[in-house]
Amino acid sequence: MSLPQNTNQLLHSGSSLFIDGRFRSADTGRTREITCPGTGEHVATVSEGTGADSERAIAAARASFDSGVWTSVPAPQRGDFLLRVAARLLERQEEFARAEALDTGKRMYEARLDIQDIADSFSYFGKLSGQEPGRVVDAGDANVVSRIVYEPVGVVSMITPWNYPLLQAAWKIAPALAAGCSFILKPAELTPSTAILMMDVLQELGLPAGVANLVTGAGSAVGPALSAHRDVDMVSFTGGLATGRVIAAAAAGTVKKVALELGGKNPNVIFADADFDAAVDNALNGAFVHSGQVCSAGARLVVEESIAEAFVDELVRRARLIRLGGPFDENAETGPLISAAHLAKVDAYVQAGIAEGARLRCGGRKATNQDGKDLESGHFYLPTILDRVTGTMSVAREEAFGPTLTVETFRTEAQAVAIGNDTDYGLAGAVWTRDAGRAQRVAGALRHGTVWINDFHPYLPQAEWGGFGQSGVGRELGPTGLAEYQEAKHIYQNLDPQVTGWFEDQAQAQDKDS
Ligand code: NAD
Repeated sequence: MSLPQNTNQLLHSGSSLFIDGRFRSADTGRTREITCPGTGEHVATVSEGTGADSERAIAAARASFDSGVWTSVPAPQRGDFLLRVAARLLERQEEFARAEALDTGKRMYEARLDIQDIADSFSYFGKLSGQEPGRVVDAGDANVVSRIVYEPVGVVSMITPWNYPLLQAAWKIAPALAAGCSFILKPAELTPSTAILMMDVLQELGLPAGVANLVTGAGSAVGPALSAHRDVDMVSFTGGLATGRVIAAAAAGTVKKVALELGGKNPNVIFADADFDAAVDNALNGAFVHSGQVCSAGARLVVEESIAEAFVDELVRRARLIRLGGPFDENAETGPLISAAHLAKVDAYVQAGIAEGARLRCGGRKATNQDGKDLESGHFYLPTILDRVTGTMSVAREEAFGPTLTVETFRTEAQAVAIGNDTDYGLAGAVWTRDAGRAQRVAGALRHGTVWINDFHPYLPQAEWGGFGQSGVGRELGPTGLAEYQEAKHIYQNLDPQVTGWFEDQAQAQDKDS
């Protein structure tokens, strides 16, 4: 049964699995209710998949890949398809933004920006597709034609988180389709709505059945098959470090290609000569946009001692003014945490920091109302700043993934770099200074996948994104983001085959002797 193209029906039918070109129910018929973290209202009823559903989706993806139905489409035409996806996403922007805002609790304003960014990613990979047809290698022999071709890696499992649900999926779907792969997407169980709508767009635009598949449900149920199955050639995961380790271990059994985009504990380094107002403002953005539920959040402020007091005082003043609210609250500046369980985890990090000797400057608790606004029904946490933090405290080392900012101080450039690099992660960081030489030196010395100078958070579809250290393996976006979904194959053709003479033909030699 194929469902009608109606958003409401798609998100409430309980038939949200998309396998082999058809929406369908979970094997068990079970469903899950999705609620808005900002208001507690019911958002959608979606299928709760199982391992058997994952296996069905893998079989469909495998069959479509092996049939060549998508791989055989010339790469520039696959690119044209991605450009049509981008255009359709923008036509349906309001519908997608609404679904994303309701699932995550983020403001409609931010959700609309997300959909624009998603369309930009599809456009980028659409234009890139077919631009790199391979290369001819000089074999040093006029009778040899040697070339490198880039082929799709095959069937890809994509497992994604809840903070930027469709954006994180788009950074995988767009390059995978450009490369010619078939895929199974497993979105976070709390935020599946835009993934469901995405399948609708891909179907509407005529992607062959089985190339795109969707399994919704809990990671522990649908995830293991997606990570371990022998018919899956690659797992591309974005999420937490602990889950990344489980997935990498599961994938090791069949030696799959594994791409991991994990967490971060990202230093924002402020020198005394920085533009004070811009640095304060961006430190707020870095830490508190989307209530800090951003992998590259600037949750670790590293500020030069001589300005630390004034800088942190100003940050605290501004943080107290941040207006909280749900997705349709036009007055809100940032939203809720994703769930009550996540709020409890964030709070536990804050309380551990205080117990270890950090000083709470603001926040540090659930927000139940603000300026007369009732926030009780959402998972709101007050923007929180802790100073007197040292690099050994768990609050400085582990990713809280909430609206928390820790403050450490330094006296010299070398100390600033040492603190910035004193982390198991290595996703992103920033340096603020008016000294261009120092800016470049520090940016060069920080062991992180992205370093901003006098800015925080911007990323570009054409620039690689990913982590050093335990922030992950591989890169998304940019030309490397496409290469992740390709295998390089060397084709070597000898135009003038000759006997090598390496092994002597003994029978012939004996004939000659006799
Ligand atoms: P998570 O690791 O809890 O879950 C991510 C996904 O993995 C979900 O879809 C979940 O259902 C699935 N999963 C859980 N257990 C699984 C298993 N055993 N097998 C297979 N899949 C399983 O992460 P989260 O809480 O959804 O997201 C927050 C994390 O994501 C943070 O650590 C954040 O830093 C990270 N993140 C990183 C980036 C990046 O670009 N590096 C971007 C966004 C988020």
